[in-house]
Amino acid sequence: MFVYADNAATTQIAPQVLDAMLPYLKEQYGNPSTLYRLGRDAKIAIEKARAQVAEVIGAKAEEIFFTGSGTESDNMALKGVLYGPAGKGKKHLITTKIEHHAVLHTAMALEKEGFRVTFLEVDQNGQVKLDQLEQAIDEDTALVSIMAANNEVGTIQPIQQIGEICQRHGVLFHTDAVQAFGHMPLDVTAMHIDLLSLSAHKINGPKGTGALYIRKGLGLKPVIEGGGQERNRRSGTENVAGIVGLGAAAQLARETMEEESQRLKKLSRKLIDGVLQIPETILTGDPVNRLPGTCSFAISAIEGESMVLYLDMEGICTSTGSACSTGSLDPSHVLMAIGLSHEVSHGSLRVSLGRFNTEEDVDYIIEKLPQVVERLRAMSPVWNRK
Ligand code: PLP
Repeated sequence: MFVYADNAATTQIAPQVLDAMLPYLKEQYGNPSTLYRLGRDAKIAIEKARAQVAEVIGAKAEEIFFTGSGTESDNMALKGVLYGPAGKGKKHLITTKIEHHAVLHTAMALEKEGFRVTFLEVDQNGQVKLDQLEQAIDEDTALVSIMAANNEVGTIQPIQQIGEICQRHGVLFHTDAVQAFGHMPLDVTAMHIDLLSLSAHKINGPKGTGALYIRKGLGLKPVIEGGGQERNRRSGTENVAGIVGLGAAAQLARETMEEESQRLKKLSRKLIDGVLQIPETILTGDPVNRLPGTCSFAISAIEGESMVLYLDMEGICTSTGSACSTGSLDPSHVLMAIGLSHEVSHGSLRVSLGRFNTEEDVDYIIEKLPQVVERLRAMSPVWNRK
């Protein structure tokens, strides 16, 4: 049996998304900047995708800008605001300790350039403390960047309340919604979001295509200069097939979100209940406010990396934030920030379910995982000392 349970890393392209893309990889190869029909048709396809993406978050189509990835969208948001007119020359950025590296490393790079960055702490569930956010804002704060949902532990932030705080203080609010977009309701107006990053490959679309929502009227300095595509915000000949795929994936996600999220919550509940039968195992992240398909655990006395490799031998794809897999000695910054000890976080395992997972998949995981844990614990000096 083969079970793909690493949907937070990437997802399988949905058949209808691939079907929508294929013409743009074959006969519809026009450059959207050209004047003849072939090019104009490509441009029309891009504009359709723009509207499809906008609809998911209650934005206007013209507020969506296509990029080459979620990472690029994050870079564009942070650098674009702080270097550009929207930042009004202010030099302070607020973000959190649990952001994806696309935000974290961009913030660190900005810090090296002389910007001031506050990295907010989170509680043991991975939640930002709203009073600390409010205290951190000062007259030099240009931007707050807080992710909608965490990629490792699945915690969902109180985005609407964060948006309200930012609005009250006249500070721009960016959210990295790469994990949240298409998986949970998001409304840029109700949530007071000024900038929102998203990526196609987390919603059964293609890799290498993302988008940034930019509230109308915000002046961002472009990160990529060139021929002026995407209304001068992001130059480079458009990845037409990728963009069409993102549009189709966004529409699919919007149409099925409610039903899929209920289905995934049920599957996750079964998975979590099953995995927590393993002695000395905890669920990490927020027990309630979490993404419907992302389940993350810490299983004591064994290495996450060994679990991933042993599960792979059983045909199950998962991931870990444990030290070895990242090539550094420290476990993931997220697990550290939520207060797990090095020892506990070494046994981290993320099982993320998606559109194509079934109940049989979950049954298979909860049959195989305890066996893998038992085998690894039998070899574990830490476990055997207990
Ligand atoms: N932000 C979050 C929260 C993510 O989970 C990811 C991908 O894992 C990214 C940003 C980066 O997106 P991309 O893979 O499209 O560059």
